[in-house]
Amino acid sequence: MWAADGALLRLRLPGGRIRGDRLAALVPIVERFATNGVLVTRRAKLELRGVEAPTAATAALDAAGWLETPTHERVPDIVVSGTPVCGGEATDARTLGHRLHDALAARPPETSLADKFLIAIDAGGVLGVAAVHADIRLDRLGARDWRIAVGGTRATATPVARVHGDADAAGCAAQLVRGVAERFGTQRLRTLTPAERTALTAELLGPLPAHIERPLAESDRFIGYDPALGHVLSFVFGHVPAAALALLAAAAGPDEIAVLPDRRLVVPELSAGRCRELRTLGAIVTVADPRAGLAACVGRAGCAQATTDTRGDALALAHAMPEMASAGLHVSGCRKGCAGRRASPVTLTARDGRYDVIRDGPPDGVVEAQGLTRSQVCTWLSRNDQSGERR
Ligand code: SF4
Repeated sequence: MWAADGALLRLRLPGGRIRGDRLAALVPIVERFATNGVLVTRRAKLELRGVEAPTAATAALDAAGWLETPTHERVPDIVVSGTPVCGGEATDARTLGHRLHDALAARPPETSLADKFLIAIDAGGVLGVAAVHADIRLDRLGARDWRIAVGGTRATATPVARVHGDADAAGCAAQLVRGVAERFGTQRLRTLTPAERTALTAELLGPLPAHIERPLAESDRFIGYDPALGHVLSFVFGHVPAAALALLAAAAGPDEIAVLPDRRLVVPELSAGRCRELRTLGAIVTVADPRAGLAACVGRAGCAQATTDTRGDALALAHAMPEMASAGLHVSGCRKGCAGRRASPVTLTARDGRYDVIRDGPPDGVVEAQGLTRSQVCTWLSRNDQSGERR
């Protein structure tokens, strides 16, 4: 695939995990071929960016065992939450993810699914994936049961089944995936109405239960150190330079690093010295870092629709107004909102080289101030935050 900064090569991580020593083997390939390092994607993949010799880079990845077999390539993307922290007997989302992957690899759908078809497995907690908009979701209910739902986030998906145990949950989800492929081919489930979704799943899974309880409550996004989890960190806009990749690999050694679809990484051990070095390389290691609240699309650096330097402006605003950025600032190159379509406390949507300001809304939300430069945005937000006035 190609992007504005050259070719890109995307790598899937089974179960959203990678061992430190396997990551270390990837570092020389990144250093040699990926001029812009690695991007952690919103599907918990690693994307080599700015690849100058894609054929040679692909051969190097193949030699290092990174390429999937054609059978495994046909398995849709599965994102899983991090280590369960919700108490009770731990039912690990990763175990279920492996079971489901194996079930689909053993008997892949006979017809193609949508390119971006996504399955999310969420055990909840501070490393959960509640906000992921998936075609099929498996959300944990208590210690051993799973809710199967289609077409949305944990809050918006349509519940269709309650299943006991990992094996049954994996079997049920695999059956649903195959059925969806046969019935709807490349159509996304999010495009179906709730009534169409329930009719479809009733046909594929049998009569729906009268009541399916709600999954465990969502937790706030966590970044920092927790003895039960390890070090949870992220990188500004998901970009991990090769030097940071090498540090992470050395820190994890034979242990695994978890990669989450909101671009957070969970590293088991990290010395204070390594933590400092990672910060200088763009790591966000505490939620107090105002950059933790930023979202921005690639902007004019990589998209013909954009007229502003979205990421540069987001970083400058985080520096100038850290509290506002910490609360959540989305700088979007246009109303499409490629970095996220959810509401943010402050969203700036570019238009003709300037910004429209939206508060508590998505990039195509209700505009409160139009056509401001970056410095005018600061002034407007300061004045309106203090007075509480709205235009
Ligand atoms: S949000 Fe608009 S400007 Fe930004 S990457 Fe998407 S299409 Fe391009």
